[in-house]
Order: sequence, then structure tokens, then C-alpha cells
Amino acid sequence: MSEIIIGIDLGTTNSEVAVVRDGRVEVIAISEGVRILPSMVGLADDGSLLVGEAARNQYVLRPERTVRSIKRRMGETSRIALGDKDYSPPEISAMILRRLKQIAENHLGQTVNKAVITVPAYFSDVQRQATREAGEIAGLEVVRILNEPTAAALTYETGHQCARKALVYDLGGGTFDVSLVNLEGDVVEVLASHGNNHLGGDDFDQKIVEFALDHLQTTYGAEVADAARLSAVALARLQRAAEAAKITLSDHPYAMLAEEYLLLHQGDPVHLAVELSRGDYEAMIAPYIAETLDATHIALAGAHLTVSDIDEILLVGGATRTPLVARRLEEALGLVPRGELDPDLCVAMGAAIQAGVIHGDQTSRVLVDVTPYTFGTAAIGMLDGEEYPYCFIPLIRKNTPIPVTKSEVFYTAQDGQERIDVGVYQGEDRDALNNVEIGQFTIDGLRRDAPAGSRIVTTFSLDLDGILHVTTREKETGLEHSITIANALARQETDQLDAARERVRTLFGEAPSTPGSADGDGADHRRQRVEALALVEKAERLLGTAGAEDGEDLVNGIEAVKDVLDQGKEGLKVAMDSLADLLYYLEA
Ligand code: AMP
Repeated sequence: MSEIIIGIDLGTTNSEVAVVRDGRVEVIAISEGVRILPSMVGLADDGSLLVGEAARNQYVLRPERTVRSIKRRMGETSRIALGDKDYSPPEISAMILRRLKQIAENHLGQTVNKAVITVPAYFSDVQRQATREAGEIAGLEVVRILNEPTAAALTYETGHQCARKALVYDLGGGTFDVSLVNLEGDVVEVLASHGNNHLGGDDFDQKIVEFALDHLQTTYGAEVADAARLSAVALARLQRAAEAAKITLSDHPYAMLAEEYLLLHQGDPVHLAVELSRGDYEAMIAPYIAETLDATHIALAGAHLTVSDIDEILLVGGATRTPLVARRLEEALGLVPRGELDPDLCVAMGAAIQAGVIHGDQTSRVLVDVTPYTFGTAAIGMLDGEEYPYCFIPLIRKNTPIPVTKSEVFYTAQDGQERIDVGVYQGEDRDALNNVEIGQFTIDGLRRDAPAGSRIVTTFSLDLDGILHVTTREKETGLEHSITIANALARQETDQLDAARERVRTLFGEAPSTPGSADGDGADHRRQRVEALALVEKAERLLGTAGAEDGEDLVNGIEAVKDVLDQGKEGLKVAMDSLADLLYYLEA
């Protein structure tokens, strides 16, 4: 049996182990379906050592017997108390490494003595040496200490030969690093790195904990909130609930923070139940993300590069699943970040790829199932500075790993709106009508007494078989509708796309397009028709409340617009203006 070298991502919050076998990269499962080992170590009451999830579970009850984030202390000479003994940081790290070594050995059915271990690009020699020492204590010869951004780039780039410059944005639980790397053939060079050793997803959790404490203060009073702050157990429970809510908010517009019997106050139980919206959450964490963008610009300057030199942005670290991260990066750098590889696992995979190279193995490209298309719906919004009812709102973006579920909140446009038409589109255009409509349904029977702005949550779930489930739910009443679109991933050939565009054109009474004709006029024309139809819809709603004389004027105005639309006559603008004036007068 040939010797095997494992790749280890020894992270601040989590660690993973991977290996290359038969040319394929494999992240080894820690337990059934779980590939992430929390980087935590603890001592149980009976003195047994707890590593990973068991230590994390104990942290809630016995934070004083549990060690977390040991990576931050690598290179220090301090000692860490655990039970009645104390340990050096490499010794604590070695406990995690030893566990990963055992897991790999059980999985591979052979002894493992060698590893590649990753460290942040900014780690000093002393910190690298401490990491090597941790490996040795764990019984592993550390054949290479590899920079984390290099590992991530290796995972993304295996099989690519052309020279590229990538920005590796790594936001983990407790640390943030951004690096610029040059990739050329098999050589990956870190040009510059910058970051903050105390910024990450844990800070986001902390913001949510503060939000929960504020809620306790408003509901039960300051004394209860203070009691929660002073109770290590209540705080640990709040932290867990906060992290779960944060993860929910990455895919859904609302998350519930619910902890029953959080604590007892003067003999009475205190329960927490509060909802947090993604919008409010994003406002809380926006300053942190702004800080990471500042660091990104510093790293760019350090590498003597400008934004336009970057070929791609690679997302690493679990906290990059926060949608605001990709959104802000895209706004700042004008590139859609790549996140198709699991951001928790790609560093470990890169370590395994490097281990494979050292061992002389060929590694094939890391393959993941991603959606090649963007799926979304349409809503009223601003398009090119004008209000437009068919703005495309992507829910599942191209290159997202599948299966995936994403939801967004939408708002009704009018008081007493009873129905909503939901279009499901596939494509990339900001105008939904330029994308392919792959489904449509109507929700009828919304509350007549509901004001404009009632919340409608739309959920898209795409599975590995290419089946797209779309569900729309009125938040207050729970009224729900859904459709299933089979074959959502079936490739829409260019001619199919053209046919779909043509169908939409015909639907809007436009002349068929001639090959090679510019679409500009068509799009303007279509937009004007859409606006006309919206105007007619609005006028028809007002008909119910208008008096006899105004009603007649309205009917005439509506007929005039419809007539121009149906007959394809000239003069749409004049008819629309006159109906709009009438509506303005009636509303005033
Ligand atoms: P890492 O250090 O790379 O393992 O990243 C861990 C951090 O990612 C923790 O703060 C997690 O709570 C966070 N995280 C994991 N999954 C998600 C998610 N879906 N959305 C937001 N943050 C996440």
C-alpha cells in the first residue's frame, strides 16, 4: 500500500481533512454527512477528551472547560488551562490534528504519517513553526506548510494553464484575509495579503446576540437582559441561536430566534421569541463588510494592482455565504465572485491537491454540480432610471451549487391587492421580459383589507434532477401557492431562446423581429406597452369608486388606450397621457 499524504485546513473555527485518491479530491467525512470538525477541544466531567462537535456541545454548558479559537494563539508562549493541567497552543492544536488523522486513517484503512497543513498568508515564521510543531505532536510529519489563499486557488484552478490574477476573499468565523494571487501553470504566488485577525462570522453572531438582548430588555426589562448577559449558559445558548439565525438569513428573508426557558428570573421562566429580517441584519453587519472592502483596497495597493487587473474573485470561508458579501464585492470590484466550490472545504481540498503534487499524483478538476443558469422572478423596480413592472429579481444565481433553496421577500403594490401574478424566468437580463419565462402562476384571494406593502415570501428550490419548485406565501396569512417546473436545467438552445423572445414579442402585439435588427426600439416599445397595461389596470381599479360622470370619462380613457394597443395604431403616448391626467385628477 503506497504512502498517502493528507491535506488539512486547520481553521480558527473549523477544520477539515481531504485526500487525493485515484486522481479525485475527496473531503473525508467526520461523521455521517458531516465534513467539518469544529476546532474546539474540551474536557468532559469524567476527564475524557472531547474534540470537535462534542466539545462544541459542551461549550454551551461548560465554557470554562472548553477551548476555542486556539489558532489565534499559535506562536504565543502562554499556556491554556484545561481541567487541572495546562497546555501550549501547539499541544491544543495537536489534539485537533490527531482527531483528523484518526478520521483519515479510519476512512482510508491505513496509517497516515504525513500531511500538508494550511496557514493564513500573514502567519509569521514563529506561527508557522508552531503549526509544524502541532503536526509533529499529533504524529504527523508536516511535508509542507501551505498558504490558505494558495490552497483555495489550487482548488479552483486545477487543470487551468493560463496566467490569471485572483483575489481570494476569505471570511471565516473569526478571521478575515484577502490575498492577491498570481496563477501561472502549476505556480501560485501570493502577491499581497491583508486582513483582520479579529473579524468574521462570529462578529455577525454577536450583533444578533445584542439584538436578542435588546429584545429581552424591551419585553422583560433591563434586569432580565442583564441577568442574561451575566449567565454564561444563557449567553452560550443565545450565541448558538444567533448563528443558526444568521445561517437561515443567508437563504431566507426572515429568521426566528426562539429559545424557551432561556433563564429563570425571580422564579419565572424567560422565553425568547423574536423575528429578525435580512434587511435589519444586513444593516447591523454592513460596517464589518465595509471594513473588509477597505482591507481589499489595501491589499490591491500592496500588490501594485488596480481593480481592473483582477480576473476573478474567489470566495473562501463559511461567512462568505452571507449574500451581502458577494453583493458588496460585485458593487466595489465589478466582478461576480466565484463561489461554486464549497467555501468551507476548498482550502482543505487545495491542501490535498498540493499533497498529491508532492506525492506525484495527477489531480483532475474538482467537479461540483452547479446551476448553469440564473432563475428568478419579476417585480416592480427601477430599470434605467424609470419605474418598470418587470425588473428581473434573481433568486438562484448562475454557478450556485445545487441542490439549493433561496427565498426573498416581495411587497404588494396596492392597498387591497387581491391577486399577484408570479412569473418564473431563466436568464441574466435585468429586464425579465428579455429572459425565458419557464413558468407562471397566480395567487388569488389575498386579504382585501391588507394595505400595500404586505409581505410575500417567494422560495425557489432547485434539486439535482433539475426540478425547480417555486412557492409563494403571504407572510401574515400563510396563504400559499406553488408550482413545480421539471427540466429547469434543460439547456435552452439559442433558437429556443429566440423562439421564447418571439413569443413574448407576439404576446405584446409587436411585429416579429428581423434578424440583425437592433433590439433597442423593440425594448422601448415593449416597455411602453407594459406601462400602458399598468395604467389601464390602475384605471380599472379606480372604476369601482368613481362617480357616474368620472366613471364614464375613465371608461373612455381606458378604451382609447386599449384601442391603440389592440390595433397597433399610432398615438399610444397621447392616449396614455390623457388617461394619466384623468387618474391624477381623480386621485387628487
Ligand atoms: P470557517 O471559519 O471558514 O469554517 O467559517 C465559519 C463561519 O462561517 C462561522 O461564523 C459560521 O457561522 C459561518 N457560516 C457557515 N455557514 C454560513 C452561512 N450559510 N451563512 C453565513 N455564515 C455561515
